[in-house]
Amino acid sequence: MKWIGRRKSTSVDDRRGSGTKSVGGRTLAGGGIVTVIAVVIALLTGNLGSLTDLVGLQPSDVIEQPYIESEEDRQLFDYASVVLADIEDTWNTILPMYGEEYDEPTLTIYDGMVQSGCGTADSGVGPFYCTIDRAIYLDLSFYDSLVRSYGASRGDFVMSYVIAHEAGHHVQTLLGVTSQMNSLRQRVAAGQMSQADFNDYSVRYELQADYLAGVVAHFMKERGYLEQGDIAEALSAASAVGDDSIQRRAQGYVDPDTFNHGTSDQRQAWFMKGFEAGDLSDWDTFDTAI
Ligand SMILES: [Zn+2]
Repeated sequence: MKWIGRRKSTSVDDRRGSGTKSVGGRTLAGGGIVTVIAVVIALLTGNLGSLTDLVGLQPSDVIEQPYIESEEDRQLFDYASVVLADIEDTWNTILPMYGEEYDEPTLTIYDGMVQSGCGTADSGVGPFYCTIDRAIYLDLSFYDSLVRSYGASRGDFVMSYVIAHEAGHHVQTLLGVTSQMNSLRQRVAAGQMSQADFNDYSVRYELQADYLAGVVAHFMKERGYLEQGDIAEALSAASAVGDDSIQRRAQGYVDPDTFNHGTSDQRQAWFMKGFEAGDLSDWDTFDTAI
């Protein structure tokens, strides 16, 4: 993506170096509470990646480590700031066409651990959007995870996809989709809906965020910001975080009843739908075959 010298968003909250880092591999006390926090975050945010490795650490259980910004991090930070500006421009243009205002979210960039409105999160949770404080959270090291662990191709636009997907959850929140999902979640908690049925809604919710990421890419293309290979990079990232790909890599087999983000094929297809449409005309993932 062409990003050097372009406008950077001022809604980036740089919390790198201000927090703490988890202790790798250490078993910590309070596992029950940790699990609860992990589940709460899983339910609220619909994060992009898997939720393994989320740990809520007590202050006494962590080691303070100074954050040293690498050259790659410096570039990723600036890149993310430009992507967020493009996301702002996209939704500030499109939402008013539908009678809505885009209330710009904050992108919090942290390292290791962060205190979000949805609880304490470890970078192992992957990028996420918190519906309570309506902010996006991103540890820049996720880029390396996406490439090395999830198998996305190396290229800057994978991060455009990631941030635009999380911003998609913000758009869904502004347009009332997230509150409908929360109502369904309460029905599951009350025993009125099965988890498997809810998972189907969850997949549709996540695919809609992929569609919205595609809309942002469309906007970037119209402005001449895309470079050769960018869309392929986005598709490679969308494929890498597909439920089937993640499960196959993690456990060697797939269990479709537990899918909650969509398969690699579905995620790529809905990103492309948004990319081709460039608006909300085809965004209804809930009332169509996916
Ligand atoms: Zn998501």
